[in-house]
This record gives sequence, C-alpha cells and structure tokens, in this order.
Amino acid sequence: MKLPLTGCAYFLDIDGTLVDFADAPTRVRLDLALPGLVETLYRSSGGAVALITGRSLDSIDRLFPLRQLPAAGQHGLERRTAHGQVTRHPGPVRALDGARRVLAGVVARHPGLLVEDKALSIALHYRRAPRLASYAHRVMRLLRVALGDQYCLQRGKRVVELAPAGRDKGAAIASFMLEPPFIGRTPLFIGDDVTDEYGFAMVNQLGGYAIKVGPGRTKARWRLPDVAAVLAWLTSGTPVPQRTAHARKR
Ligand SMILES: [Mg+2]
Repeated sequence: MKLPLTGCAYFLDIDGTLVDFADAPTRVRLDLALPGLVETLYRSSGGAVALITGRSLDSIDRLFPLRQLPAAGQHGLERRTAHGQVTRHPGPVRALDGARRVLAGVVARHPGLLVEDKALSIALHYRRAPRLASYAHRVMRLLRVALGDQYCLQRGKRVVELAPAGRDKGAAIASFMLEPPFIGRTPLFIGDDVTDEYGFAMVNQLGGYAIKVGPGRTKARWRLPDVAAVLAWLTSGTPVPQRTAHARKR
C-alpha cells in the first residue's frame, strides 16, 4: 500500500508507534527526523494529522514543541481540535485522590514502579520492574473496584491505567472525523497496543486503513514491523505494509 497523502486523515499513536519505549515516558528518545516528518505530513495533508495517545496533552506538547497538533490525550479523555479548542472529560478529578494516596505508598515500597498522574487518569508503569506485573494489576483492579463503574482499567504494554469509563481511542477518532479538516476523508490509524484496538475497530467501520505495529492479534488489516518501519513508510510511502494474518483469513 502506497502512502495515500491526499484524501486521508492521519491518526497516529505515539509510544511504540512513532517512538520506541523507554523505562519511563519522560525518557523516550525521538528519532531526530520525527518532528520534521510529522510537520511535513501535517502540511501535505492539509492539517489532517492527529496524535491519539495515552499521554496527556501537556506531555504531547513537550515531545512535539514545533506545533500544537490536533490530539487526543489520555485515550480520548482530553482532545484538542484542529482549531486548537481543548475539551476535557468532566469527571471529578478529586475522585482519584484516594487512589493517588494508595499509589504513593505502593511506589514508596516498590521504587521499580512508576506512577504517571495525568489528572483525569493515573497510569502505573512496571516497565522497570516487570516481575511486579501481577502485583501492579492487582492493586489497580482493587482501586477500580473502590471507585465503582464510573471508572475502568486500560491495559497496555507494561502499564495499567485507571480512567473514567466511556472514552477510548475509537471514540476520539470518530469525534475528529466529524470536524474539518478530517471530515469526508478516509481515516488511517497506526498503533501498537491493546488500547489501539478501539481505534482499529472504528477505522475499519469507517472503511479506512488500520495499521498495527509489531506482532500480536489485532483487528487491524495492515501491519508494519516496528517504529523504524513506521517512520520509513511515512517518509517514503514504502515499503508496503503487510496484510495481517487476520485479514488474509477473510
Ligand atoms: Mg502505543
């Protein structure tokens, strides 16, 4: 598949898609070419580029300082339109205070764990201490139960997050697709993780291109092997992403 520059709306996950994982989200290393690459895509597509990520908008802007790009942060809990208008989930922020206190104690006892407090949601990372995976999930499950059904868990690669229920990457993409300059275009979404499956499902429904980075079961019909391949494809339109096994079976 050649990179279709005109007529497409580009939705891009960040970690594991545009940048390789580091032991903490603040320590990722951007490929030097990445900011320019995103800027070129933004201009050549008439501004139809949005970042769709678990990071907060603040964290996105620290990574991409060139331009405040359209973006959905915290898996869609906050969103910045192409006109720069920011909407945030109206969830009660203080509801997470109990969880904050518990997690501060957890991290004090287990320094290998890392809490990423994004105000509307809280992520517990165990990338530096993978042996604590089941412990981290257990703590977060208990906190979710204590918060009730208004909250859900989002599981990712060596991270588990507590967030208000009802928003996901698919819903965020759908919101963008109703607004200029995205409206009327064919959506293309590239992501690597479990939470990106909501985005893949939405893009499939809209007749677009869902591209999974790396191995694993997926609803996406296209695949690229790693971050380097994503950057190469976005740069040159080649190599051609492979159809996923899932798609071949159809
Ligand atoms: Mg990712």
